Amino acid sequence: MERTTMTDTTTLERTTPSATAIVEHWVGGRPWAGESDRTGDVFDPARGVVQRQVRFATAADVDHAVDVATDAAAAWRSASIAKRQQVMFAFREIVNARKDELAAILTSEHGKVLSDALGEIARGLEVVEFACGLGHLTKGAYSENVSTGIDVYTLRQPLGVVGIISPFNFPAMVPMWFFSVALAAGNAVILKPSEKDPSAANWMAAALTEAGLPDGVLNVVHGDKVAVDGLLEHPEVKAISFVGSTPIARYVYETGTRNGKRVQALGGAKNHMLVLPDADLDLAADAAVNAGFGSAGERCMAISVVLAVDTVADALIDKISDRMGRLRTGDGTRGCDMGPLITGAHRDKVASYVDVAAEDGASVVVDGRGIEVDGDPNGFWVGPTLIDRVPTTSAAYRDEIFGPVLSVVRIEGYEEGLDLINSGAFGNGTAIFTNDGGAARRFQNEVQVGMIGINVPIPVPVAYHSFGGWKASLFGDAKAYGPHGFEFFTAEKAVTSRWLDPSHGGINLGFPQHT
Ligand code: NAD
Repeated sequence: MERTTMTDTTTLERTTPSATAIVEHWVGGRPWAGESDRTGDVFDPARGVVQRQVRFATAADVDHAVDVATDAAAAWRSASIAKRQQVMFAFREIVNARKDELAAILTSEHGKVLSDALGEIARGLEVVEFACGLGHLTKGAYSENVSTGIDVYTLRQPLGVVGIISPFNFPAMVPMWFFSVALAAGNAVILKPSEKDPSAANWMAAALTEAGLPDGVLNVVHGDKVAVDGLLEHPEVKAISFVGSTPIARYVYETGTRNGKRVQALGGAKNHMLVLPDADLDLAADAAVNAGFGSAGERCMAISVVLAVDTVADALIDKISDRMGRLRTGDGTRGCDMGPLITGAHRDKVASYVDVAAEDGASVVVDGRGIEVDGDPNGFWVGPTLIDRVPTTSAAYRDEIFGPVLSVVRIEGYEEGLDLINSGAFGNGTAIFTNDGGAARRFQNEVQVGMIGINVPIPVPVAYHSFGGWKASLFGDAKAYGPHGFEFFTAEKAVTSRWLDPSHGGINLGFPQHT
């Protein structure tokens, strides 16, 4: 790997942030500046300072990257299954051996604590490992003698060039969800990562080059809406995988499909955890704290609402706030439990929801604003926050806050909880905590949500199942990775074949029937 590239753009130590270092695009197997003079700030969220810049591509930059990818795609689609497998295995080995380096980049630009960054990488690698099984996953089917002397079989072929547009909150895992499967299936990729934490994408692109991926098969184009629109409008980009907020997911889905592309666009979330009175309240409190405040609540599968049945609500809230008192918020390199938010603007928005909830009649049990941190006071901090009796009419209940703010809504029982979950706009994840198997079974049958946990607060499916929500959490038919991933990144052909002999002769204009 070209280590100089990474050290040019990524300061792993927090001692000398350089606001002028630039994260370049990665095109044709090397860093590329493009023609744009537009750049964006990349912050060190634990310090609240700009640590480097990132290029913002023009439409012409995107066109160039797509041309490079189109050229490379022609050879890559013909690369043997064995060769593609070898690249995926080698990439897995490189990331595994150097995961601390990648984790340090994640902590530096995103802010999540190092242990969480390593967890993100591990969950991304799980999909790389799944993609190593591409020989099995791209197999077609064969039916012999569908009619006398006639066979039918299917082929799965790559689409060509595909675009991946990813969010800030998982700068390594979400790109791995998609590019592993897309590359394994024989496609060339343009990755447009979040402009807020762009360096992980370049690190992974360099690792893929080192793993033997031919130049131009995976390219990284940095930027904002201009770069995204360039991908959505380019006729050579055959499919788009997007993950981000719901309004942008909807826009990407509508624009991409209008331009004739396959699109899977994963959106935002508001995940509820329903706690029934028979649940083990200590385990439920542990789960609520882990799933509510891990990664400072900046996870699409974070629990943001606890639905507590009245009879146990006080006890549960006591247990949750007791655990919150023991969490340490601060710099992700210092062994803290929770890091900062991604930007100052996002910190302010998250903090404003605490006022909104209070104005709407909720009671703030633990207020994380102004928390003392183990880190630079200028970082983008909001500590773990717990709000009780949040009215379901409040924007603090309805909106995705995407921060360390856990709301409690008190309910009478299962039916009321189910109705609340099912009447929400999102349908990403949910969890039920109970020891009643019948209630859990009813819940999995009745809840209108794509990913369900039974006593599991963050039910992210393993790589050989697929990840995706319902309603405003996913636009399109295909979920991420797993069997859906390989279907999304391949097109199926059905071949009907016979080897002619004299018995097949003669004229007959009727619709072919089986004999
Ligand atoms: P975002 O929607 O702001 O950005 C996502 C991507 O879209 C980025 O690459 C960004 O550059 C691009 N983008 C932003 N504004 C755009 C515009 N106007 N036009 C075109 N492109 C634009 O999301 P984010 O803040 O980076 O990520 C957080 C969101 O992602 C949350 O809503 C979270 O729930 C969601 N998310 C969902 C999942 C899931 O699997 N459903 C996973 C992770 C994150």
